[in-house]
Amino acid sequence: MSDTPRLSLVIPAYNELQSLATLVDEIAAVAEPLAPAAWEIILVDDGSTDGTTALMARLARERPGVKAVLLRRNFGKSAALMAGFREARGEILITMDADLQDDPKEIPAFVEKIEEGFDVVCGWKRKRHDTLERRLASRVFNGVVRKVSGVPLHDSNCGFKAYRRWCVENLELRGNQHRFVAAVLSWRGARIAEIPVVHHERRYGPSKYGVARYFHGAFDLLTLLLLTKFSQNPLYFFALVGLPFVVLGGIIGGYLLTNHIVHLFDEALGFPLTTRPLLIVAVFLLLTGLLMFLIGLIAELVLRSATLGRGYWVREVVARQRPAVADEAAASAHAAETARPKSPDRTRQSFTER
Ligand code: UDP
Ligand code: MG
Repeated sequence: MSDTPRLSLVIPAYNELQSLATLVDEIAAVAEPLAPAAWEIILVDDGSTDGTTALMARLARERPGVKAVLLRRNFGKSAALMAGFREARGEILITMDADLQDDPKEIPAFVEKIEEGFDVVCGWKRKRHDTLERRLASRVFNGVVRKVSGVPLHDSNCGFKAYRRWCVENLELRGNQHRFVAAVLSWRGARIAEIPVVHHERRYGPSKYGVARYFHGAFDLLTLLLLTKFSQNPLYFFALVGLPFVVLGGIIGGYLLTNHIVHLFDEALGFPLTTRPLLIVAVFLLLTGLLMFLIGLIAELVLRSATLGRGYWVREVVARQRPAVADEAAASAHAAETARPKSPDRTRQSFTER
């Protein structure tokens, strides 16, 4: 394998024992003609409990071009993707699910689209092999994401995506934020394309996501707003939420106060402020609105001093040449990252010049 691969396949896996070896074979068969000796597969074990971990380590030791990042426990798909991105060195990064639902034969189409000049290419499972309930929920979710983000994608949650290197540098995905990574990157100026992909039925084991995904999805949309439109000015977001409270509280308070003043001049008119229970409502509304503004101000401060941790912990990185201990690997990854030129434009240029 060459030192700087052209293509990195990043595969997060959580209890995918039966599919992993087949997947690696299928990817290798497609990647080799596409980028001879210049591809790598980064498998990320997200705290599996079914033996995936051992198989992954074995694949990494035995197969050239395959690397395994073993996380200490299950941190979720976003964290697993982040761990994989940090380890990947390719100019083009392609993410795929490990359950064989995504077909490696589609990889050349993703690369072609990136070469056309796009920064992110998203798969669109046009014909999905999921339950009706999942397909309907996905339609609603995608509709709302489209509205909120303004990125016209049919299937923002598709795990099959391709990125130019600059897109994943300085990317921070937590929790379930991988579901709208395209929206976040579009907000950063990435040119986004979509291609329809074949979607197979899950061959082994159950889906890793249950009904809880709908509950999470609703909150994730709020996060999406905060991550895109309001990411640089969280105060605007909180002010927008607080404003109706302040306006309503102000109107009620003003009405009560006017009556009180009128009553002071003429006892037959108006009423004293303290005899109206509505006063409690006005005070409650005003205080809620005020609190929102203050929370917004704190968010602005937090934004300026944000040194959040990375959100996952690696136990071991297994590669054919040199297995490394977790923290050393993290430290060297960090050192490499700080040494690498940060300008996204330079990265992009060096790629397009090829
Ligand atoms: N996955 C993961 N960590 C998790 C849950 C899932 O790495 O906590 C991986 C999983 O192994 C698979 C991919 O994310 O490779 C997508 O998961 P799944 O197929 O269960 O999702 P679905 O296709 O049902 O949306
Ligand atoms: Mg799946």
